Amino acid sequence: IYGEARQNSRGVNLNIRSQYQPLMDAMAKHMDKQYEARPLLGFDVATDPALVHDVTSPYDRRQKVGTVLWTSADQAQKAVDAAWQAYPGWESTPVSERAAILRRFADLMEDNLAELMALCSREGGKLLTDGVDEIREAVDFCRYYAARAEELFTAPTELPGPTGESNKLFMGGKGVFAAISPWNFPVAIFCGQVVATAVSGNTVLAKPAEQTSIIAHRVIELLREAGMPRDVVQLLPGDGPTVGSVLTSDSRITGVVFTGGTDTAQIINRALAARENAALPTLVAETGGMNAMIVDSTALPEQVVADVVHSAFQSAGQRCSALRVLYLQDDVADRVLEILDGAMAELHVGDPRDLGTDVGPVIDEDARKNLQAHIDRLKGESRLIGETPLTAEHTQHGTFIAPSAFLIDSIDALEREQFGPVLHVVRWKSQDLDKVIASINARGYGLTFGVHSRNESFADEIARKMRVGNVYINRNIIGAVVGVQPFGGQGMSGTGPKAGGPHYLLRFATEKTVTNNT
Ligand code: GLU
Repeated sequence: IYGEARQNSRGVNLNIRSQYQPLMDAMAKHMDKQYEARPLLGFDVATDPALVHDVTSPYDRRQKVGTVLWTSADQAQKAVDAAWQAYPGWESTPVSERAAILRRFADLMEDNLAELMALCSREGGKLLTDGVDEIREAVDFCRYYAARAEELFTAPTELPGPTGESNKLFMGGKGVFAAISPWNFPVAIFCGQVVATAVSGNTVLAKPAEQTSIIAHRVIELLREAGMPRDVVQLLPGDGPTVGSVLTSDSRITGVVFTGGTDTAQIINRALAARENAALPTLVAETGGMNAMIVDSTALPEQVVADVVHSAFQSAGQRCSALRVLYLQDDVADRVLEILDGAMAELHVGDPRDLGTDVGPVIDEDARKNLQAHIDRLKGESRLIGETPLTAEHTQHGTFIAPSAFLIDSIDALEREQFGPVLHVVRWKSQDLDKVIASINARGYGLTFGVHSRNESFADEIARKMRVGNVYINRNIIGAVVGVQPFGGQGMSGTGPKAGGPHYLLRFATEKTVTNNT
């Protein structure tokens, strides 16, 4: 499945070259363009040269994508003022008009697919296949939330009451939301947060990840072109502590929607809670995971390996949903490990713009260093059971990590989530199954989980016992589809409700009951 023909994240076989050549031709004209990203606020901002930063590509730091002007703390504060002032007018804008902007925005992203993909690759280091999936997901979020908003918010719900009394339940916005998004889905998660909060009647301050500010800037330009007023959704590129501390300390921020590390979610939660005379905040967080897959002896080894490689190494393992710990039942472990070793040797690490590449770079030098230190430590204390070769060409100018797999004793051997292409494998014996389940649950994360088994009752029982947000049986565990696999975790992996699910927008809305004694 590797090389010219492969599966996309939904498991569909693609004949890569014939499908992607026209798109690559269209992308070519965006590959050298230099961008100047800047805050897009409800007011104009002057350029302070001290706040201008260069942006380069993860696969080759000599290649410049452009520059980004960071938002100052003072501008962030003024942006909160603008969002606060814009809120009442936006909330009373008919839902159909708000939804129409989302639909136009989705169309515009489709029209600009090639440019957005070029940026995902240049700034985010994404493979073309990942880029297509990413923009498709962003478009799906827009159309799905537009439809849900119309269903949920258009008319009040009539409730029963005694004769002469009418009871109606109205849904409104909550106020001003901060949307703090990650670099690993710079279009999809970024858009998902922004459009969900806005279509529910809130004004939004979007803080994109520092690593992917140019993509965010281009996306918000398209959102404005679709008709979104400039003070309803504002873009605040910049460094986390400067912008984040303004957004989480101002008493007028009603809520934060956040995707990123569990530690950061806890910092945000504490900052929101520490405010005085502020509305009780809403925090919608999607955070990390220590995602496991349990494979029993009835599973098909070839299918297991295809799904494991996909789950652990696609997107260079830089997905919250990615597989980190594979539990193989002893009787089938040797066979699976042999095939896995072969599959990993075949993977091609390289330039994400190349169709033959299976695994692109990790996002930056910090990520590379942390992952490499983890790999070096495991090489000293655990058995390496699979590794994809890296050449000097990779390491000289880009931030690449060799996909690696190690045998470990249990999930407890891991201190924290490793956000990259490193797989940990545990062998288990049937008498230890309960212990295995208990130890995975005891880690306190609960995002994705996989089970591979042809014994249906075994798979169902394990699925029921795992305290996670998304269970996948006999397939890969990444690539949740909007409206099909609502995505998000529990415990240390997130607060819910799930992105791309029917209840998501409700978390951004306020209910008001009006009783009228007519
Ligand atoms: N929704 C993505 C998936 O199912 C993962 C999102 C994330 O990494 O935060 O693969």
